[in-house]
Amino acid sequence: MRSILCGLLNINHIDTKVELCGWVYRWRDHGGVIFVDLRDTTGTVQLVFSPEYSVSAHALAKELGLEYVIRVSGVVRKRPPGTENKDIPTGDVEVAVDTLEIINTCKQLPFNLDDEEINESIRLKYRYLDMRRPEIHEIFKIRSLAYKIVRDYFYSLGFREFETPYFTKSTPEGARDFIVPSRLNPGQFYALPQSPQLFKQILMIAGFDKYFQIARCFRDEDLRADRQPEFTQIDVEMSFVNVDDVIKVSEGLIGELVKGLKGKEIGLPFPRITYNEAMEFYGTDKPDLRFDLRLVDITDVFQETELGILRRIVENKGSIKCIHFKEKNLSRRELDLAVDKAKELGAEGLIWMKIEGNSFQSPVSKYLKMEELKRLEKKVNPKDGDIIFIVAGNRDTVNEVLGKFRLYLAEKYCDIKDDELKFVWVVDFPLLEYSEEEKRYVARHHPFTAPALDIKTFTGQMGDIPAKAYDLVLNGVEIGGGSIRIHKKEDQMEMFKLLNIEEEEAKEKFGFLLEALEFGAPPHGGIAFGFDRLLMMLLGKKSIRDVIPFPKTQKGICPLTGAPSSVTQKQLNELKIKINI
Ligand code: ASP
Repeated sequence: MRSILCGLLNINHIDTKVELCGWVYRWRDHGGVIFVDLRDTTGTVQLVFSPEYSVSAHALAKELGLEYVIRVSGVVRKRPPGTENKDIPTGDVEVAVDTLEIINTCKQLPFNLDDEEINESIRLKYRYLDMRRPEIHEIFKIRSLAYKIVRDYFYSLGFREFETPYFTKSTPEGARDFIVPSRLNPGQFYALPQSPQLFKQILMIAGFDKYFQIARCFRDEDLRADRQPEFTQIDVEMSFVNVDDVIKVSEGLIGELVKGLKGKEIGLPFPRITYNEAMEFYGTDKPDLRFDLRLVDITDVFQETELGILRRIVENKGSIKCIHFKEKNLSRRELDLAVDKAKELGAEGLIWMKIEGNSFQSPVSKYLKMEELKRLEKKVNPKDGDIIFIVAGNRDTVNEVLGKFRLYLAEKYCDIKDDELKFVWVVDFPLLEYSEEEKRYVARHHPFTAPALDIKTFTGQMGDIPAKAYDLVLNGVEIGGGSIRIHKKEDQMEMFKLLNIEEEEAKEKFGFLLEALEFGAPPHGGIAFGFDRLLMMLLGKKSIRDVIPFPKTQKGICPLTGAPSSVTQKQLNELKIKINI
């Protein structure tokens, strides 16, 4: 129906005849001459309707409304000098229209497509209109390009692409399952996959040694800005590999994505830090390294302190840590706000010390001994105008509070560049973590992750068993994670034993994997990246809803279709389900 796309027109087309289709994005009548910005998926171009070019087209153009679908033909002209629009690629030209066909009309729009502040639930209800807005349209063109980059990369390395089932058995990634009743097997349910984890391992056992999939995953969790009930992973698995191999392939992928989507070369390899270092220096396993603020352990400085609050912590074998905040010279009011913030984050209190000349100004300085201040100075080495923020308590709380407090300081006072990308691998995660809720150790990654040592001979604390597991973190957000897997049945059973999963239960849930491991399973490992999250970060968006075509709201509702909704009694009867609310 058209000879060229709107956004592609330029001075090379001057004097050529074109046929265009699209939507009326803007319309203005300049007394006798009507201007329309015609938009299609590639962009907009200016149409000019004048009786000079066509009396009938000009007359019909008066009837056009916003978002009408039209087809025109006309001749490309150079815009008169002084009327060019440097902001758009087609801004040097316009089309003098000689025929106009109205293909479809458009109702009164629920919002103006040019508005910047539109309520999100209205946007999502009319997602098709929202997606016509050039800025939003662009996001999904980029998302499409990202799929291509991922596929090109993996195919170039000899990976094979698979689809794995959506109707399956539960895969333990730590979230609640979405379940689907089976009409053919009343009272029985499929679980939607939290990830393709078990299938990708099975594919390794099937001898395909490089697998990838752009996979949909389903997790019934409370939603946040970076969580959706269904989301997309770039899922990868390889055989005969070690941690370094998986990391190398992953870095290559990220490099290609950053190059293709942002036009930037990213420095490879990415730095690696261990989980223990991440917790020690940044108080989190997802450190944001765009700013160089570290947690410093100063427990030893205060071993003999007489300052009551610290004394108590030292006696209880707690930790005292600080952040050395350089050259910021905060005011008294800002320091008070910082104290409030630390308390809000869970600290019992926050001690600040401001360096003025050679002395420490602090509400507690008169209770501290000279040697303590000397030791502190030696450890932290502060300069005039610097501030030391101290938090004390049990080790985990101190790390958690200061980990978040450093983000607060950075956001408020450090100059973080929006487009800065700081990737870091966090490696050597612990295999297990204690779940207060379940009162037992659970797998920190998932139960198929290989320990980094022989668990049968390990004699230390359960929580200290290292795993061959790694996460990729970007600007403080986890964008991927994976591990080398257990590939022997005995080792897998041993792992289930550690997790207090009985043999019967293990067989019931994962019997198929356990059996497959007995048929010559190769050593294997892999990773999965949160595709939506990665795009969100690369495009500088605040929520993954911005990069998902049809996302759910925080309440798990799809405003476009109205899902979830009730079903008919007939459907329930067929499934032998009774609603009990
Ligand atoms: N299945 C894991 C996840 O979804 C990723 C992996 O271990 O490859 O987090």
